[in-house]
Amino acid sequence: MYHMVSGHRRGAKFNKLRVPPAQFERHVAYLAENGWTFAHVSELKNALPDKTVVLTFDDGYRDNLEYAHPILARYNAKATLYLVEDRFDRDWSTAKKAHHDSGELMQEPKLTDTEVETMLASGVWELGAHTLTHANLPAAEPQLRADEVIQGRTVLQQKFNQSIPSFAYPFGIYDTEDVRLAEQAGYDFAVTTKEGIDPLPYARPLELKRIKVSGKEGLWSFKLRLRTGRRK
Ligand SMILES: [Zn+2]
Repeated sequence: MYHMVSGHRRGAKFNKLRVPPAQFERHVAYLAENGWTFAHVSELKNALPDKTVVLTFDDGYRDNLEYAHPILARYNAKATLYLVEDRFDRDWSTAKKAHHDSGELMQEPKLTDTEVETMLASGVWELGAHTLTHANLPAAEPQLRADEVIQGRTVLQQKFNQSIPSFAYPFGIYDTEDVRLAEQAGYDFAVTTKEGIDPLPYARPLELKRIKVSGKEGLWSFKLRLRTGRRK
């Protein structure tokens, strides 16, 4: 699970979400050179080699096109983009914790729809939903909560004229009602921020674990977590 691929900013609160481009290239090069198969989330329903990796990018930051995309393309890699539909002028960090009011994520440039279309046309990227507004789902009113999950899919399907096979719970915060809504919305898969690697066959395809890739850890840690799913 990645968010931004960009250099760290002095004094910034969210540098752990920023993987510097050179570091990201080391990750992708390592995977490509060590026999890993790259897959989109939708491909998880197929039989895949044991060493298969699914790279995901949450939210829709512009650096995903600027820095991550050329690296992915160079190594014939693939990634899945979890796009917030209404992502401009929004500081979703405050939806999780009120004291997260730095505006840092709001000011971070986001992908335009045209840029997303360019990424999808390349074949490198698959599109997934990440709600309309990056809502804290269990805290939302019932109708809004359903809209975030269900319309979060239909709006992207109409806008980009393609199926949206998977979903990412904002902040990784969800409960059984959100899983039910994800099923009702028709997603084949949904991803969480629970750390780890799911054994096959998936017991809970709408609650897949992920491995957080921090911008503050080296290649050694990356390799360890590919193997164990854990930090230590
Ligand atoms: Zn997010």
